[in-house]
Amino acid sequence: MRTKLVAGNWKMNGRLHDNAALLTSLQLTATKLKWGCQVTVCVPCPYLTQARAILSGSPVMWGGQDVSEHGDGAYTGEVSAGMLTDLHCTHVLVGHSERRALFGESDQGVAAKFAAALGAGLVPILCVGETLAEREAGITGEVVTRQLDAVLARSGVAALAKAVVAYEPVWAIGTGKTASPQQAQEVHALIRARVARDDAAVAGGLRILYGGSVKAANAAELFAMPDIDGGLIGGASLVAAEFIAICAAAA
Ligand code: PEP
Repeated sequence: MRTKLVAGNWKMNGRLHDNAALLTSLQLTATKLKWGCQVTVCVPCPYLTQARAILSGSPVMWGGQDVSEHGDGAYTGEVSAGMLTDLHCTHVLVGHSERRALFGESDQGVAAKFAAALGAGLVPILCVGETLAEREAGITGEVVTRQLDAVLARSGVAALAKAVVAYEPVWAIGTGKTASPQQAQEVHALIRARVARDDAAVAGGLRILYGGSVKAANAAELFAMPDIDGGLIGGASLVAAEFIAICAAAA
């Protein structure tokens, strides 16, 4: 039985005043309702201290949106995995499609970040997914497998026992277009089968989140699919009522 996980990705959004309202509402609701799922919010680095101050002692965890593949040192602008754990982060996104597309992150670079996160005791949330052109060319499985294989080659299948995978079709991120539950389930099953080829027990325990325009209105039907173990939520994680309703759907 896999415990569902709902992860918010604020992307590059937030200001102290608005964050305080959002985080406080989340903290109060989660403490009161004691959802049967896990919840984490991946916030921009400057706001990690604020997330820690408001969420400490509540069931809601917090994490980063990216991590350096390097340890501390002369890497101006980078944030190390050790810095994230210093701020009590539990999770970090690696290989989000915006980082792959806009910042040129390669499969190998993502695998290095995944290894750095794991090495520091963070749970990496490895994002994989195909573009619209790749889906239309019929190579969704190939693309997702290639992205996953880079991590398996670098860290080994046992590493996935301490990680989470998020399937995020690029064409569904921030576009309002959601993969149908069946489309998402098909890729989630493919990811689990690929991991099972290396280790069936790890595959059985692996949480695979769906991300791409998830909102309160479509969360329950996505989360009802057998291989969908929660969601990675972008835009809707910035609206307290929406995000809380999505957590309730997973709970
Ligand atoms: C994301 O940023 O990971 C995401 C899924 O965004 P959205 O929910 O806005 O599509």
